[in-house]
Amino acid sequence: MLTIKNLHVKLEDEDKQILRGIDLTVPAGEVHAVMGPNGSGKSTLSYVLAGRGGYEVTEGEAHLGDVDLLDIEPEERAAAGLFLAFQYPVEIPGVGNMTFLRTAVNAQRKARGEEELSAGEFLKVIRAKAKDLKIDAEMLKRPVNVGFSGGEKKRNEILQMAMLEPKMCILDETDSGLDVDAMKLVSEGVNALRDPNRGFLVITHYQRLLDHIKPDVVHIMAGGRIIKSGGPELAIEVEVNGYADILEGTS
Ligand code: ADP
Ligand code: MG
Ligand code: MG
Repeated sequence: MLTIKNLHVKLEDEDKQILRGIDLTVPAGEVHAVMGPNGSGKSTLSYVLAGRGGYEVTEGEAHLGDVDLLDIEPEERAAAGLFLAFQYPVEIPGVGNMTFLRTAVNAQRKARGEEELSAGEFLKVIRAKAKDLKIDAEMLKRPVNVGFSGGEKKRNEILQMAMLEPKMCILDETDSGLDVDAMKLVSEGVNALRDPNRGFLVITHYQRLLDHIKPDVVHIMAGGRIIKSGGPELAIEVEVNGYADILEGTS
């Protein structure tokens, strides 16, 4: 599903190398977690996959299925089935949540060669999914994320994810700043979307999210590299001992 090979990334305007050879494969149906100390390059990895500007790929490749992600525009990546939930969801004043989602869903359907959903069809789908996620109809009418609480923003991201039915979901520290209830909601949303045809890359600084979203594989990232991969027990090891032991063992 997602295949990253020897990915090297530097800042565009500065001679600063951030990713130094990332190799990572997330097969369909699996949830992989990426953990690591602050500044290790976790967010940069998700930004580069999403196609955000300011970074330069100096070596390596990234594919979603057989689509070369680095070769196409950000909106084409989304249409190809890549979804990113960011640490700080953007607010879009003046654009209603429902309108935003309908535009996104239809753009994606168009890219897949499918017919657009009519207003009525779309309304039926979004109402059902919003209900599952305990999102009230009022929130669908408000401008995207404007004035939403932290928990509401997260819930809204899960709704976006549910509506877009992506092949590969990347969540970058979706848990930061969340209270226990909101974190449970995000986890439940992710777990409900787990599917044999869908992969997840869950980036998190803390282990607690992984109590709710059980990963198949845990990767530890430091200094722009993946320094260790293992099962869920690796996350527990980090929780108990911090990153120091693992870092020491590899340097
Ligand atoms: P993480 O998400 O693991 O905390 P980041 O990807 O945010 O790590 O950052 C990795 C390193 O790259 C840090 O040292 C950070 O300061 C630096 N960095 C990332 N993006 C930029 C940028 N746009 N300008 C300057 N430094 C950056
Ligand atoms: Mg950080
Ligand atoms: Mg980060």
